[in-house]
Amino acid sequence: MEKNKKAVVVFSGGQDSTTCLFWALKDFDHVEVVTFDYDQRHKAEIEVAKEIAEDQNVKHHVLDMSLLNQLAPNALTRNDIEVKDGEDGELPSTFVPGRNLLFLSFATILARQIGAKHIVTGVCETDFSGYPDCRDVFVKSLNVTLNLSMDDEFVVHTPLMWLDKAQTWEMADELNEFEYVREKTLTCYNGVRGDGCGDCPACELRQNGLDTYLERKEVNS
Ligand SMILES: [Zn+2]
Repeated sequence: MEKNKKAVVVFSGGQDSTTCLFWALKDFDHVEVVTFDYDQRHKAEIEVAKEIAEDQNVKHHVLDMSLLNQLAPNALTRNDIEVKDGEDGELPSTFVPGRNLLFLSFATILARQIGAKHIVTGVCETDFSGYPDCRDVFVKSLNVTLNLSMDDEFVVHTPLMWLDKAQTWEMADELNEFEYVREKTLTCYNGVRGDGCGDCPACELRQNGLDTYLERKEVNS
């Protein structure tokens, strides 16, 4: 058994990080969440995160990361940049350079402050959206760097790393939070909660995963 059972979850109020929150609540004695405010298109994201944290009775930290927007304007932060998938090896227009590097670093500094050894993030390599900082090798490398930088022994957990979107739905279901995740979370780039706008790449990914999961469930029942 781990001695330190306190965790910080990197939390956006979306499907993935909310599933991670429920995963952490099951595995750790004390959980707090952190949301980064980087002037994302939809401030709604922060409101949704706040509401879910309140619902689940966990302390919610919101950290100002507006410098990220200042340095790296992109489709998630600017309304005049179109959301589109990367073509021919290009990064998608939603890629924010350095985002997970910064988020995980600040989450770990926060963890140190509150005496937590565990950091949980919903990054995933399986449905690889073309974000290099969602890869397992990146997270492991950063974990080593963070430990060296603070002479400490943090563990960065990535419970969704090898799951596809359907399996992430399955995890929420196994945690008895399927309906909650489906209704309360915000994944959509157009700021529409629950099943979303149905049009943007985030909605498409989420809906495909949901359909696949529901089909698999039906076959197995
Ligand atoms: Zn959408």
